[in-house]
Amino acid sequence: MAFESLTQRLQAAMGKLRKKGKITESDVTEMMREIRLALLEADVNLQVVKQFTKEVRTRALGAEVLDSLSPAQQIVKIVDEELTKTLGTEAVGIEKSPKIPTVIMMAGLQGAGKTTFAGKLANQLIKNEKARPLMIAGDVYRPAAIDQLKVLGQQLDVPVFDMGTDVSPVEIVRQGMEQARANKNDYVLIDTAGRLHIDEALMDELKQIKELAQPNEILLVVDAMTGQDAVNVAQSFNEQLGITGVVITKLDGDTRGGAALSIRAVTGAPIKFVGSGEKLTDLEVFHPDRMSSRILG
Ligand code: GDP
Repeated sequence: MAFESLTQRLQAAMGKLRKKGKITESDVTEMMREIRLALLEADVNLQVVKQFTKEVRTRALGAEVLDSLSPAQQIVKIVDEELTKTLGTEAVGIEKSPKIPTVIMMAGLQGAGKTTFAGKLANQLIKNEKARPLMIAGDVYRPAAIDQLKVLGQQLDVPVFDMGTDVSPVEIVRQGMEQARANKNDYVLIDTAGRLHIDEALMDELKQIKELAQPNEILLVVDAMTGQDAVNVAQSFNEQLGITGVVITKLDGDTRGGAALSIRAVTGAPIKFVGSGEKLTDLEVFHPDRMSSRILG
């Protein structure tokens, strides 16, 4: 599971203060040095580490902390609050359209987990709201992606609109949207193509789909295992396409977790969901405060 090593190191860094009655500035400096190393080791973005440690240090050195009866406890609380802030403060759900359908477009590199996420999201919408989504198979470059989406559709009893691999994704989305309107589906989930790397052709295609479908959400799906690359990908998609949220997948894997900790602060885009496994039910709405508690152990 992600963050195991980070949790241990943060606990060790803060635990040392517990044994002391009175905490001095040099104790805080020493703790901050260890926290900084732990975050860097977990692959958190350098700018994020700097900002975070600066905020924690300033607050930890405040008189009300050092003079308090339980300074170590106060510092743990400060670290928790600042970590929550770094992760985004509040859970941000799906932005719904006032008029059906709410259109959600997935974007991301190949293998990030877009198709899987589309299925997981459909499942959650059905469970939570008895939604009637339509999924559009727009990934025509990876033929297996269409079959994969159809299999998910069968499992969930959700219609999947596809036109095979010979029609342009933009046309597929156009006709898929027509079908959704005709059938009064309340959600449209558009699975788009990914590439191994970001290229202009991919971005152009996504921009055309965005223009046509006017999505309420453009969710960028990134793989936590790719570390800082995931952060760079998020930044790049946000600049070029404009994203409304991020989905971090594979947090169940053996990842150091730094990407999950950096994305919000680097890109400004909120993390909306995390994927924690391959099954349809392995999806969690992202809550910054719960994630912070989990990291701090
Ligand atoms: P796409 O190319 O972006 O559509 O990616 P896929 O949805 O096909 O996912 C790529 C691989 O990652 C598949 O083997 C999925 O089962 C796997 N996967 C997706 N999300 C998760 C996750 O949250 N955890 C784990 N462990 N595997 C995942």
